[in-house]
Amino acid sequence: MSILNADLHCHSTVSDGTLSPEALAERAKANGVELWALTDHDEVGGQRRARLAAQALGLPWLSGVEISVTFADVTVHIVGLGFDPEHPGLVEGLAQTRGGRGERAQEMSDGLAKVGIRGAYEGALKYVGNPELISRTHFARYLVESGACKDTSEVFRKYLTEGKPGFVPHRWAQLGDAVRWIREAGGVAVIAHPARYAHSPTREYALFSEFKSHGGQAVEVVTGSHAPSEYPKYADMALEFGLAASRGSDFHSPDESHTDLGTLPFLEGRLTPVWELLADRVQ
Ligand code: AMP
Ligand code: MN
Ligand code: MN
Ligand code: MN
Repeated sequence: MSILNADLHCHSTVSDGTLSPEALAERAKANGVELWALTDHDEVGGQRRARLAAQALGLPWLSGVEISVTFADVTVHIVGLGFDPEHPGLVEGLAQTRGGRGERAQEMSDGLAKVGIRGAYEGALKYVGNPELISRTHFARYLVESGACKDTSEVFRKYLTEGKPGFVPHRWAQLGDAVRWIREAGGVAVIAHPARYAHSPTREYALFSEFKSHGGQAVEVVTGSHAPSEYPKYADMALEFGLAASRGSDFHSPDESHTDLGTLPFLEGRLTPVWELLADRVQ
């Protein structure tokens, strides 16, 4: 079961990806993906389209979402898989989580204006597919277009990360709430790309323990957001904490993402794949 080309993490135009849910389903199928989930940030508005597109292609599908959480003052992402996308508690929780994005974007734009980059809010809006989901990625695309930077990683480095002019600290959902929304909607909660967080080892241990005590069940081990050298550490942590393992490219765009759908190495055989917990929810 660990030898399955599952890709359980990617983004569409419903959040900060550049392809539609339908185009992602086609790309996943063409790349040999055998189980697929679309995990837009804080939003399940693309799930029905993703399911219909996957079903039309004969591509096994799970519902998905990536929830923004603030844990120990750091933004952490929690993926949900295999839940009911219409569950009222989840839908309401996600709406609350999206809530502050418009105001935050205005403040980001004000910060950028102070260093001479004008009109960034309006510029970013041109890239936004879902008005409730304006994100740093949309600002990054605009700053590349306007010639301020050569690519989106340079934008994040110079303008959009902590201490930089376009960075606005933000409080997202609480860890326990995000895990609860996913569980109450019948899904499995997964710690997304754990190596990406600026946590000390003590805080990382606390994240895993608290996640587990809230009922979280899995962690991403093989992800496009990790370097291959980071896989074994999180495979060990999955086993240490009794968590299942997930695999996903975190694909956003053919022009920006270095990991395409369905192209990662398989999970190691010593891990329990998260899809073993979700077998009855695949559609
Ligand atoms: P937000 O939810 O508005 O804070 O935006 C977060 C998104 O920005 C992530 O989901 C990534 O898609 C993108 N992102 C974060 N850091 C970087 C980076 N260093 N380079 C490129 N994209 C990034
Ligand atoms: Mn993103
Ligand atoms: Mn993420
Ligand atoms: Mn993601």
